[in-house]
Amino acid sequence: MPLTDQRVAIIGAGLAGLACGARLGEGGVAVSLFDKARGPGGRMSVRRIATPLGEAAFDHGAQYFTVRGASFRDQVARWAADGVVAPWPAAGPEAWVGVPGMNAPVRALAAGRDVAWGSQVEALARDGAGWRLRAGEGPGERFDAVVLAVPAEQAAVLLRGHDPALAAAASASTSQPCWTVMAAFDRRLDLLPDVLRDAGPLGWAARNGSKPGRGPIEAWVLQAGPDWSRDHLEDPAEAVCAALLAALAEAAGGPLPAPVAVSAHRWRYARSAAGTDTALWSAATGLGCCGDWLTGPRVEGAWDSGVALAERMLAGVAGG
Ligand SMILES: Cc1cc2nc3c(=O)[nH]c(=O)nc-3n(C[C@H](O)[C@H](O)[C@H](O)COP(=O)(O)OP(=O)(O)OC[C@H]3O[C@@H](n4cnc5c(N)ncnc54)[C@H](O)[C@@H]3O)c2cc1C
Repeated sequence: MPLTDQRVAIIGAGLAGLACGARLGEGGVAVSLFDKARGPGGRMSVRRIATPLGEAAFDHGAQYFTVRGASFRDQVARWAADGVVAPWPAAGPEAWVGVPGMNAPVRALAAGRDVAWGSQVEALARDGAGWRLRAGEGPGERFDAVVLAVPAEQAAVLLRGHDPALAAAASASTSQPCWTVMAAFDRRLDLLPDVLRDAGPLGWAARNGSKPGRGPIEAWVLQAGPDWSRDHLEDPAEAVCAALLAALAEAAGGPLPAPVAVSAHRWRYARSAAGTDTALWSAATGLGCCGDWLTGPRVEGAWDSGVALAERMLAGVAGG
């Protein structure tokens, strides 16, 4: 059956899944996306926290992105023309961010698409030549082909017993964790620059409000380096907040005011390993994989992988 007559499901509506869905849609393929999160972003998501000063928003995953290849450059130019992204010079001359939050490009790609938010796919089940997606009660919807656009560790679980080659590739890829602390203050931290890199346990810290289109609250995102995050993976959130705020104070050269709101998020699968394949597609099983773990741990890698998988499916090419 030609792909244009098939129903395709994409599990994961992050940048890779949506890039794949958009390209398949352009090719005339009916696509349904499922994402366990309540809204768009994936690892480019935005966390909102109530503070006595009002709601503060934090880009608590990807901080910015850069552009290397022509395909992504064209897309970023379209987003820039639509006001969805803008340069952020504080992170470097090539740095771009979503506006008003890092999830803006994902939100823009999701608009008008068939995306079921809050829908966690727990298992795949064979149904003839197709697949049923188990998400909650009931047998689940039936699809002819399924794309897994989730981190490698989560793809490996869903693929086990269904496609040994794809499951082995996903199992072989390991991601690095990242503890992230979000802190809001009632005044500007004048002693700090907008961006800090590699300061003790901190791999990165940024004044979120220095990005274009953000609100007025002094909101900071503090991200621990990969080694520190791994060594402290099971620490309580309060201890992580204290350690990273102490590192920020150290970088400022003196005590900081107490934050008016603080929260921590543990990304278990933050940064994927560098990939060796752009995307994986098995015409025999009707299963495919895309995501940054197949290209490299960058926003652009996720985009490239999603587009590459769609191109492979549309061209009917098997293999990885
Ligand atoms: C802390 C951190 C900092 C980063 N910093 C940068 C940076 O500065 N620059 C840069 O370029 N990149 C950065 N990255 C990496 C970048 O965010 C990723 O490469 C990119 O967003 C990956 O996109 P993706 O679509 O492959 O995966 P994701 O964005 O992870 O999308 C996967 C989606 O699948 C959903 N999902 C997972 N399992 C299921 C399931 N069973 N059922 C349904 N839905 C499911 C998730 O909810 C998610 O929305 C950072 C990432 C993190 C976490």
